[in-house]
Amino acid sequence: MTTTNPLADLTDYLSESATLGEVGALVAWDQETHMPAAGAGARAEQLALLAGLNHERATSARLGDLIQACEEHSTLNSDADTMADLREARRDFERATKLPADLVTQLARMGSQGQQAWKAARANNDFATFQPFLEELLVLVRRKAECYGAADNGELYDPLLDEFEPGATAASIEAVFTPLRGRLASLIDEVAENGTAPDETPLQQHIPTDRQHEFGLFVLDAMGFDLGAGRLDTTTHPFCEGVAAGDTRLTTRYNADRFAEALYGTMHEGGHGIYEQGLPKAACHGLPVSQASSLGMHESQSRLWENLVGRSRAFWVWALPHAQRIFGGAFHGYCVDDLYRAINTARPSFIRVEADESTYNLHVMLRFEIERALIRGDLEVADLPCAWNQKVQEYLGLSVPDDAQGCLQDVHWSFGIFGYFPTYCLGNLYASQLMDAAESQLGDLAPAIEAGEFGGLKTWLNEHVHRHGRRLRAAEINERATGKSLSADPMIRHLEGKIRPIYGI
Ligand code: ZN
Repeated sequence: MTTTNPLADLTDYLSESATLGEVGALVAWDQETHMPAAGAGARAEQLALLAGLNHERATSARLGDLIQACEEHSTLNSDADTMADLREARRDFERATKLPADLVTQLARMGSQGQQAWKAARANNDFATFQPFLEELLVLVRRKAECYGAADNGELYDPLLDEFEPGATAASIEAVFTPLRGRLASLIDEVAENGTAPDETPLQQHIPTDRQHEFGLFVLDAMGFDLGAGRLDTTTHPFCEGVAAGDTRLTTRYNADRFAEALYGTMHEGGHGIYEQGLPKAACHGLPVSQASSLGMHESQSRLWENLVGRSRAFWVWALPHAQRIFGGAFHGYCVDDLYRAINTARPSFIRVEADESTYNLHVMLRFEIERALIRGDLEVADLPCAWNQKVQEYLGLSVPDDAQGCLQDVHWSFGIFGYFPTYCLGNLYASQLMDAAESQLGDLAPAIEAGEFGGLKTWLNEHVHRHGRRLRAAEINERATGKSLSADPMIRHLEGKIRPIYGI
């Protein structure tokens, strides 16, 4: 292929692919929020067609030629941004074309069957019926990892992890997780042995969902989420969909007797949304800079707002009078410390998605260790429940009563997703390290948060995280922003510094 300006052609091509992706995102968002149930059949066709068109474009010979032409034309004069764009375009193309078509089809089919089998197995608390599906999926997932290939000194788990956290390896994750595990486990022991648990009644008041929605919008607006370029709707499973430039959709769910679920869910998705709004999607449409760096970095933005801002005492100094006003009477008998203590209850539990800030990461670590062992072949699927229960006992001090509350609780493995779990914990780690750096550069943030002024923090995140998109790897964004490589210390310091005083230790 000969083109006069391959870079312009590649940019146009990627921009058009991005537009097609945006249509798919909008259609998928609608399916979760407003579509009538009877539209499901047609919607599946629409989504399948769009996915097929996207895959065709992502693997086309024309795209391969354009990337190659750009690489050949790129000279020492090419700027760093262009080189990064080309590197990422090449990476996407390689990943999209490395898997043989029959493997892609088999993975999709087994993923769908696996998910059905998992649903039934979880409902019936019957791991044995799920086991053969997971065994078959594991064979396919290992084949997929072999197609992607691991580095010489790496392992098969690495290319799976790399899909969600580019550049990370099992060894690099292990190096951060291992010291973290011991310190978290001893904090949880301290709390269980010597701590006085907070009174949780402030969280158990009845607050009508329309009031909760109003409060959620009020908080999002204060955080700096641009509601003129986004929305907040209701779904069963909350998510954030960065549809396009100027169009970021958040969803949440309400429980009239548990306001904290929606509030923290909304702040979490709001953090994802602020990241999406901070990416240069209009100016650099379709280029890697317009996309998030990794799932771990994305999660860091949601966790930062949810936990480090939303569960701080300073946040409740600001939020309590507004909550009292909007919730109409609820909270009138409570003070800031009542709320602050209640929303920071730390208690080991069986279910990851219900875990509190201090026990959550242990749930993620045991999943990482187990899935890595499964991929390596060090653990047989048949022995999974036993391995799971042992780790829950060891890390959380709990005896798992049944597999539904144990190894059958998460959907990920049932459709062949391995290597995803560590990104949840990486998000927490990045969040704490970034928050520390923001505070060391901007000064103590508590007075601003107490005054409801979140703009300084948001602008700092825009500058140090969001604007880089995918041109920098998450580890590099973290290092440039904080001056240090990833460490568990900031998160541990944060948790110990918060939980010990709350529990009177
Ligand atoms: Zn999230």
